[in-house]
Amino acid sequence: MALIHNVLIVGGGIGGMCAAIQLAKQGIAVDLVEINPHWAPDGAGITISGPTLRGLRKIGVVDEVLREGGSWRAIDVCDANGKLTRTVPVAPATGAEDLPSAAGILRPVLADILAKATQNAGAKVRLGVSFQSMEQDEEGVDVVFTDGSRGRYDLVVGADGVNSAVRKLVLPDFPGPQFSGQGSWRAVVPRLRENSTVYMGKTTKAGMNPISASECYLFVLDKRAGMDFIPAEQWPQKLAELLEEFGGQVGDIRRGLLDGSLGDHRLLYRPLAGHMIKAPWHKGRIVLLGDTVHATTPHLASGAGIAVEGAIVLAEELKRRYSLEGALIAYAGRHYDRARLVVSASGRMGQIEQAGGSLEEHTRVMVDAQEALRAPL
Ligand SMILES: Cc1cc2nc3c(=O)[nH]c(=O)nc-3n(C[C@H](O)[C@H](O)[C@H](O)COP(=O)(O)OP(=O)(O)OC[C@H]3O[C@@H](n4cnc5c(N)ncnc54)[C@H](O)[C@@H]3O)c2cc1C
Repeated sequence: MALIHNVLIVGGGIGGMCAAIQLAKQGIAVDLVEINPHWAPDGAGITISGPTLRGLRKIGVVDEVLREGGSWRAIDVCDANGKLTRTVPVAPATGAEDLPSAAGILRPVLADILAKATQNAGAKVRLGVSFQSMEQDEEGVDVVFTDGSRGRYDLVVGADGVNSAVRKLVLPDFPGPQFSGQGSWRAVVPRLRENSTVYMGKTTKAGMNPISASECYLFVLDKRAGMDFIPAEQWPQKLAELLEEFGGQVGDIRRGLLDGSLGDHRLLYRPLAGHMIKAPWHKGRIVLLGDTVHATTPHLASGAGIAVEGAIVLAEELKRRYSLEGALIAYAGRHYDRARLVVSASGRMGQIEQAGGSLEEHTRVMVDAQEALRAPL
């Protein structure tokens, strides 16, 4: 007998949409509410690691992601002037050897692909709507929505991101995400190389990952004193300052940022914050998913990947267990380790970068974590 017949998902990001798709495939009636009336994430690029591609194949969208995005099987390491010093092959995820080792795509393009899949799976989506209140009893959760409508659900999934409102109902004492000490800069630039590329400056590392046949996104992390607000009009100048030590291709981008010749670079700055919350991740019939419980810095490019995997594991456990409580405990139990690995290894890499620490340790933390993540779910 099915454990649940209907579910409300709060939040239509990567995790929420993947959960909606997997649960709808199991015949569960899915309602999804997304507070953003345009259902549109920021315009940055995102890296889809090999394990994430494997997860997206299970969700049913990997072909489209690879068609619309860019992909690679190796990383070119270049010096600050763009001279290639070595090429490092990247292994694909176990069980997904036929897929590329990693891919990149614009977030709005990925969101569109997942949004179509969510609707095709039969989930009912309402945009510009959130919950106003939730009351649960033994048998279900009564929800009042911000548009005044009401519903009763067997399960509510909080997938409303790092500053989750649903989390306040499950973990009222959680103080909120912690600033990591770094800020992230991302811009869309022309694709110059086949592979993912990292340019090694003395103090700064600039990465470029393909997001389509013709474009890449440039990403740079810098050490910051706090969660400071930087007005958007200052972003080109600030990023150009960070890229000062680079010549070659990155130097050209730097000049393009300053003189406007780079065109529509969709530059974004964001201070980084995160957390890894201990299980249990549920209270009664309300359960948390994705960044609500494990928000990571982007060093391993795997935050979205663990949101996808969390959605897959939650759906699988709801299908194979005999009690809802058992399924929700099993979901967190099975998923916790991989999520914690991503958050803690990414955090350690950030600490090493801020302290100007050992490049050897940085590489070892990254390689060990990537290898562990390639193992089957
Ligand atoms: C700078 C940066 C770069 C990153 N790069 C990568 C990368 O390259 N690869 C990677 O795998 N990961 C990356 N990540 C991590 C990744 O973006 C997140 O882990 C992922 O988006 C989490 O998905 P989510 O669905 O849990 O949350 P979100 O994507 O935050 O989605 C939450 C959704 O809930 C909605 N919402 C919020 N509040 C409410 C409410 N009250 N009611 C209804 N809806 C609500 C939001 O509008 C949003 O649509 C990066 C993160 C950062 C900060």
